[in-house]
Amino acid sequence: MTDLRSLIRDIPDYPKPGILYRDITPLLCDAAALHEAVEQMAAPFLDAGVDIVAAAEARGFIFGTPLAMRLGAGFVPIRKPGKLPFDLHSFAYQLEYGTDELQIHVDGIQPGQRVLVVDDLLATGGTVEACLRLLEKCDAKIVGCSFLLHLEPLGGQARLEPYDVHSVLTYR
Ligand code: 5GP
Repeated sequence: MTDLRSLIRDIPDYPKPGILYRDITPLLCDAAALHEAVEQMAAPFLDAGVDIVAAAEARGFIFGTPLAMRLGAGFVPIRKPGKLPFDLHSFAYQLEYGTDELQIHVDGIQPGQRVLVVDDLLATGGTVEACLRLLEKCDAKIVGCSFLLHLEPLGGQARLEPYDVHSVLTYR
């Protein structure tokens, strides 16, 4: 089996001093590792009856679409303002400095559809928490959240309660 952890590259002081950035691009360009990562992200949800995978740009899209195909589900994009052309639900959220906003098409998800949220990495949980609030506005039935990496000390998992959170690699 491919050692996925060995393909995550640590970049100190990126994007600013004091941040240890976990670079997933060595894993993405390894065909066997990319396949293994998608399989492991999907594994707990194979029998969960997922109708839709939802993911936020940009890195969520990398894993969201193959996971949707693996689970026999559709894919719904969640995007920054100005990117989606139809009627929208929006959710603004707090960053360390300032605010950010994510949006979803109002007709992307039908009430009661079973939705899995996907991203490459769980850090503070702000991004996926915003996705969950948008999906709640759509009256989605949230099945859980799946990540490749979880940076545990940043405490993001608590923000995603009570939902089921799965990650392939945990950094403690
Ligand atoms: P959060 O909202 O949980 O604080 O941050 C998660 C989001 O930021 C993810 O969408 C992820 O792409 C990005 N991110 C934050 N830190 C890192 C990192 O160390 N490596 C990578 N690849 N992405 C990160």
